[in-house]
Amino acid sequence: MLKKTVSRILDLIYPPSCHLCECSLIAGSHLCDTCRHELSPIEPPFCTRCGESYDGQINTPFTCPNCHQLDFHFDFAIAALHSDGGGKELIHDFKYMRQIHLAAELAKLMNTPLKDSRFRPYLTNGLLVPVPLHWMRQRKRRFNQAEEICKKLSAQTNIPHLSALKRIRNTQTQTRHNRAKRLENLKSAFSMTMRMKARIQGKHIILIDDVFTTGSTANECAKILMQNGAQKTAVLTVLRG
Ligand SMILES: [Zn+2]
Ligand SMILES: [Zn+2]
Repeated sequence: MLKKTVSRILDLIYPPSCHLCECSLIAGSHLCDTCRHELSPIEPPFCTRCGESYDGQINTPFTCPNCHQLDFHFDFAIAALHSDGGGKELIHDFKYMRQIHLAAELAKLMNTPLKDSRFRPYLTNGLLVPVPLHWMRQRKRRFNQAEEICKKLSAQTNIPHLSALKRIRNTQTQTRHNRAKRLENLKSAFSMTMRMKARIQGKHIILIDDVFTTGSTANECAKILMQNGAQKTAVLTVLRG
């Protein structure tokens, strides 16, 4: 009640506006319909393993040439948006400008890929698990972007969430490395406590992150989850890099 009143007063002082075009909005939203429609969603055809989309006519399920040589620990990866335009701006501002209120908007965008039929068993026996940050990086950023999205998505979908993974090595930032370097860099970067292990037994895990690039981070997390008793792991991200 108090929370609602405070938020109403705040709306009067600072009328809510669209994060991208700054037009005024009704309370509870941070993105106008026009800007939401201008985002570039990932639509079929896309690779059934890594979610990379392709131009052209492919009507049957396919795996991209990149995934032919790779053996992932996760079942499949799927993302809401291409990593350009408005999507990129939203993630950038959310992550680096501490616009944490955008988490709900980003989670809303993930509801579309979540409708993929492969997620069906994950909806009934599922658990949303965020890719963890090392505590040192989290202290610097003040929040874990994946965890914030995870909490909002859980509230929107009623799928429980659990921060089951721990990042035990403060790995260097991955963006400048090639695939081989990324893999080396991530070795033994993640772990899980016995208490968390007990809670993921037999579960269908949806691993949540902001961006999927080569999949090496998601793959390392999926490896730990699968080794510790998860039934299956799929990856859901806002952007496909
Ligand atoms: Zn707008
Ligand atoms: Zn692929």
